[in-house]
Formats: sequence, C-alpha cells, structure tokens
Amino acid sequence: MNEGKTCPNCKGEIDAITILKSGFSSGIQCPGCKARLKYSPFPLGLVSTFLVIYVCLCVFVLIFANSYEVNEQGWKWGLDASVLLIIPIGLILELITVWYLRNRCTLVENHE
Ligand SMILES: [Zn+2]
Repeated sequence: MNEGKTCPNCKGEIDAITILKSGFSSGIQCPGCKARLKYSPFPLGLVSTFLVIYVCLCVFVLIFANSYEVNEQGWKWGLDASVLLIIPIGLILELITVWYLRNRCTLVENHE
C-alpha cells in the first residue's frame, strides 16, 4: 500500500509531472479533484542536501568553465557547455526527489 502516489481525497493518481510543477512545495494540487495536497512528513533534509549539492556543482562547473575560457587552446568551453551540464544534473536530482516522495512519503490534504 503506497500513499505517495494517490490523492487522499479522490484516490486519483498524482503523477511525477504534477509534483515537478509544484516545485516540491506544499502547493501540490490534485489534477482530478483540485484538492491541495502536501507530503507529510516532508523530507526537508534530503531536499536541502540535494539543493546544496546542486549549488556546489553549479559553482564548480562555472569556475571550471571560466578557467577553460582563460586557458583557451583551440577550443572554447564556454558558458553554453556548462549550462548543458547543469540542466541535466538538476533534472536528475529533481527526478530522484520525485521518486523518493512518491515511494517513501505520504500525501495528505493541506488545510493551511
Ligand atoms: Zn484528488
């Protein structure tokens, strides 16, 4: 029995896209019955750890990109290439978070 994938109100499925669009906030809205939902308990530790890892990676990639621009030898590793790295890393971390929320956490109605 998994309570992280279905709406507690209408038992409709809450898909990964719905959670991604909410930005992991408490503003998840059931596409079926429009009930406001949230994950409880919210894995704040996990999400903030991912956020810190992501920010560190972004800083690292940007420093790396800048150093290559300075030591340019025939080819250029510019900001475009670093954005190409940053976006997939962010997506992977988001997908892991969604997977974790849907499989390990419970959806409850948000009455705040
Ligand atoms: Zn619902």
